[in-house]
Amino acid sequence: MIEANNPSLTSWIKIEENSDFPIQNLPFGIYSTKNKSKRVGIAIGNQIIDLYELANAGLLDSTEVSSDVFGSEFLNPFMELGKETTRKVRNRVSQLMRASNTEIKGHDGLKKKVLDNESDATMHLPVKIGDYTDFYSSKEHATNVGTMFRDPDNALLPNWLYIPVGYHGRASSIITTEQAIVRPKGQQKPKDDEPPTFGPCKLLDFELEMAFITYNGKPLGESIDVDEAEDFMFGMCLFNDWSARDIQKWEYVPLGPFLAKNFASSMSPWIVTMDALEPFRCETPAQNPKPFEYLQYSGKKSFDIKLEMYIQPENGEENCVSKSNYKHMYWNQSQQLAHHSVNGCNIMCGDLMGSGTISGPTPDSYGSMLELSWKGTKPITLSDGSERKFLLDGDTVIERGYCQNESVRVGFGEVRTKILPAN
Ligand code: MN
Repeated sequence: MIEANNPSLTSWIKIEENSDFPIQNLPFGIYSTKNKSKRVGIAIGNQIIDLYELANAGLLDSTEVSSDVFGSEFLNPFMELGKETTRKVRNRVSQLMRASNTEIKGHDGLKKKVLDNESDATMHLPVKIGDYTDFYSSKEHATNVGTMFRDPDNALLPNWLYIPVGYHGRASSIITTEQAIVRPKGQQKPKDDEPPTFGPCKLLDFELEMAFITYNGKPLGESIDVDEAEDFMFGMCLFNDWSARDIQKWEYVPLGPFLAKNFASSMSPWIVTMDALEPFRCETPAQNPKPFEYLQYSGKKSFDIKLEMYIQPENGEENCVSKSNYKHMYWNQSQQLAHHSVNGCNIMCGDLMGSGTISGPTPDSYGSMLELSWKGTKPITLSDGSERKFLLDGDTVIERGYCQNESVRVGFGEVRTKILPAN
């Protein structure tokens, strides 16, 4: 067992019972304050541990990571060091924060230097993302979309049960929490028998997803085996993959998504390590037909992660519109990474792999407005009485997620994005 995951550990820092960030989590992110430039931090309770100052104080010497790695504007230099080292750092920080440890706790000056209140911090995009890939791995989502747009009797295309379908997205427009998006403009074709139109997107949607961030993979030409795939994953975050459904419908033939998807995707600022998710492993749904050998894995490769999506109208209150779970995914992320590299594609440190929209089996667990409002035919009523088929200007969309067992809650915090009117 990973030492830092021990459910009986407690910290000398006061942590609320329902906190996403107990001592068993210790996720990594990039933050700044009024007096501190961007740096690597770890969330614990409602505080942030400053790893740059921690290293400067000599408290991370045993990990052999120099402090400038933690003074970086992105997590990439840290992730470049590989899993063994990032694990060592998380384990060492776990030691320092334990109730019985006095290396920081007993020293007021040091304590002030290495701890910041979350409320004083600005969170930044944690990773300089090299390449972004988005999968389409929820069977329920693919079935719903196929039913709406093609044929309920053949909702899944013939390749879907054989291939973890995906496409290459755009990394430059990935943002983090509290960064607003502007409603995209583009071509649409609202009526089949009339010419296309141009203007602001009218069918703006979220996609409830998660993503994993990679370490360096293998050299070009080599493949990652499905059972070693997790060795190449640093951690996971929440991921809201914004979509313009009207633009998508007109443009996607024959090469797939383009401007409907590349205007923004929002990732949460804290990356929860694969180590911290270890206690929440679960089975992937049964796969039939049997996948090709390179996709056959052993053990439990999925994770039980509760996911929620909220819409908050301008000056209004939050409305939970979807409750899903990462465990619904038909293709797990080890299969995704094995498939991604089976042709010899080289995975790089800081690549982001989106899961695809995660819909569950029941209508209240669908992961997009497209499905929740069933293509606009079943509007959702919010607590202020207003209706939503798709998203309106001024709406804030909030994604949250957490794992919970009898003893520990390990959460991801949230990613919050406001929609501004088209330019
Ligand atoms: Mn997507």
